[in-house]
Amino acid sequence: MRQNMFPIRRMRRSRSRNIQPLLRETAVTKRDLVAPLFVDENLDVARPIAAMPGQFRYPVETVAEVAEDLKKKGIHAVLLFGIPKEKDERASSAFDPEGIVQKAVRKIKNRVPDLVVITDVCACEYTSHGHCGIVGETKCGPDLLNDPSLELMDRIALSHARAGADIVAPSCMLDGVVASLRGALDSDGFEDVLIMSYSTKFASALYGPFREAADSGFAYGDRTTYQINPGNSREAFLESELDTAEGADILMVKPAGFYLDVLAEVATLGIPVAAYQVSGEYSMIKAAASQGWLNEKATVMESLTCIKRAGANLIITYFAADVAGWLDEEQ
Ligand SMILES: [Zn+2]
Repeated sequence: MRQNMFPIRRMRRSRSRNIQPLLRETAVTKRDLVAPLFVDENLDVARPIAAMPGQFRYPVETVAEVAEDLKKKGIHAVLLFGIPKEKDERASSAFDPEGIVQKAVRKIKNRVPDLVVITDVCACEYTSHGHCGIVGETKCGPDLLNDPSLELMDRIALSHARAGADIVAPSCMLDGVVASLRGALDSDGFEDVLIMSYSTKFASALYGPFREAADSGFAYGDRTTYQINPGNSREAFLESELDTAEGADILMVKPAGFYLDVLAEVATLGIPVAAYQVSGEYSMIKAAASQGWLNEKATVMESLTCIKRAGANLIITYFAADVAGWLDEEQ
């Protein structure tokens, strides 16, 4: 009689300490992770990024060692951002064969050939105005011009491919950029270079610390005319759908943690999806942990597990090296 008072399905049966690990649905591995790296032409020694404790800008002379160290820890891919010496209106240093990213790619591929090198393809670190491409007068004042900026992105991506980049990652949210890059890469013999599109990138307040990291704040205006409003999920899906049609090899949702519903939907498109756990997500956890308000490791692992659970095949995270260390400890 007594057993009828209980449901037949007791969920706690599956959560006993010895059974639970067998039934775990999602576990983060090193292969899921991509480590962003900042390389700065103005530096001789690594410089800490104050708004992102534990992160550095590296001089080109040492970036290959840092990359090799990541590979030894089991991280398989890095995403490179460059900070040039010279900025101008037209981002000339962004496509210079002797530019900071191009040099860094060559050094890394020389030293660690099997590490996957992804390059950020954008102009905002290279323009004096801080916008992501060519700026001109529009009916609402000065703003990013779409079509004139596409040619600039083609030149940047080609210079990265020639330096040896495995994957180019346009982050500018220009209409038509994936198709434009695909055409430029293919006609130059780079059919094998992948395009990871920042296909669904929101105009987020969480990019704040990155602006210090990459020196990419803007002189006027903001990026709300080319990035997506955080409240718009149908538009967010459509952006990734369009980049799929244009031939993107990998899609991206950025930021990650606040946008898991969008990530889950974009994952239904059937091609690999990266999620970018951005600077603000990193710095929030770091700040709370430094006060003793959150357990850093537990919070980081939970955040990454949930991003993977929502559908990410790859997670770009500033915690990559730490996670690799923690996973080793558990074995
Ligand atoms: Zn940009």
